[in-house]
Amino acid sequence: MKRRDFLTNSAFLTLGSLYISCISGCKKDNDIIIKPDQITRRKFKNITLPLLGLGCLRILATPREEFQKMVDYCMEHGVNFFDTGFYYCDKKSEDILSAALQKYKREDYYIATKISPLFFKDNNDFEKKFKIQLERFKSSYIDFYLAHCIKDKESVNHFKEKGMYDSMCRLKEEGKIRYIGFSSHGKEDVLDRFTDEYKWDFCYIKVNYHEYYDSKTTKRKMAILEKKKIPIIAMEPMLGGRLATLEDEAMQELKKNHPDMTPVEFAMKWSASQNVVSILSGMNNLKHVKENISYYINFKKINDEDETARRISDIIYKNKIINCTYCGYCLTACKQNVDIVNIFKSYNTYILDKNEKNLKNLSKVLANNKKNSSCNRCMECCKICPQSLKIPDLIDKIYKKMDDFQKS
Ligand code: SF4
Ligand code: SF4
Repeated sequence: MKRRDFLTNSAFLTLGSLYISCISGCKKDNDIIIKPDQITRRKFKNITLPLLGLGCLRILATPREEFQKMVDYCMEHGVNFFDTGFYYCDKKSEDILSAALQKYKREDYYIATKISPLFFKDNNDFEKKFKIQLERFKSSYIDFYLAHCIKDKESVNHFKEKGMYDSMCRLKEEGKIRYIGFSSHGKEDVLDRFTDEYKWDFCYIKVNYHEYYDSKTTKRKMAILEKKKIPIIAMEPMLGGRLATLEDEAMQELKKNHPDMTPVEFAMKWSASQNVVSILSGMNNLKHVKENISYYINFKKINDEDETARRISDIIYKNKIINCTYCGYCLTACKQNVDIVNIFKSYNTYILDKNEKNLKNLSKVLANNKKNSSCNRCMECCKICPQSLKIPDLIDKIYKKMDDFQKS
């Protein structure tokens, strides 16, 4: 075991014993016993967070009973960290999550929620929306509150001009927010300036091996946050599902050094092996929850000395698929009903597996889109896209490429 791994694993062990030895007389936050079937936890300020958090961005299609089972399974296994947002799932995500949590004591779970500064008019409007969030959770406080999607000059200006930071700090002082943070979807210079200008308890950034090696943006963002001692909570360990299915060549790379791991297990464990407090994963069924939790019970960092992750990332890069995570934010901005997510999804599916069926599906999606919508290049979708994709240009390119695909 490398010295660094030894120190990290020892720290977790010490932490585990700490909870057990202070069951009586400690604050509630530290009264945690890690049972053998419970997930590994990491220290965050004076509390601990489970290595996995349940992301509730895509839960609308999940039947309520199934979602309740997911939350119950999480709670049984120590996953008491839940992430949502004011506008997630057509503004229904917070209510759905809250309903599933009502049977538990408020102090037994942590809620993280957020709003983008683009989505309120001024600080009065922000505080009105924050009050709605408290009401949705039937709670007097939110544990983790974020300014969402800070990615460029425009989002920073909205944040500044609408006085969001002052409001967040005041709500924290009043005990209505425990920790303030933001989610960073932009380049590292935006992150660097934003963290110089304001003091934060934590930050969400995407941490997955492909973006770590491909553009190195993640690597640089992690370095900035580590230097400023801002704890990192990781988003998108699976890059919107892209890393769940690997092409044959990448699969061979994975199997060479990790023959027993699936692509999902490898990606989840790679992200948790970085300097992060917790990993948020958008899960929408119980099977998915069980699998993810199983990766993080008695978690040990993976050994990636052979750089399997980098080599897989090189293969993914060669295939040049569109870096869309299928979050669907752009759809809320598009008044022309452009079928953005389906277009990108069917295009990527075809690029990864160029067969007749996938080509037919792509052709059908493009034809339907042409029939039902017409992009006027208003660029509203680009303003909101966390991946900063130039959506109309990419769609134009796909239409052009379609002719070549059909000829080949
Ligand atoms: S640029 Fe096109 S796809 Fe994007 S929001 Fe405007 S109309 Fe919709
Ligand atoms: S284009 Fe951007 S906003 Fe739209 S689904 Fe993809 S990542 Fe999300």
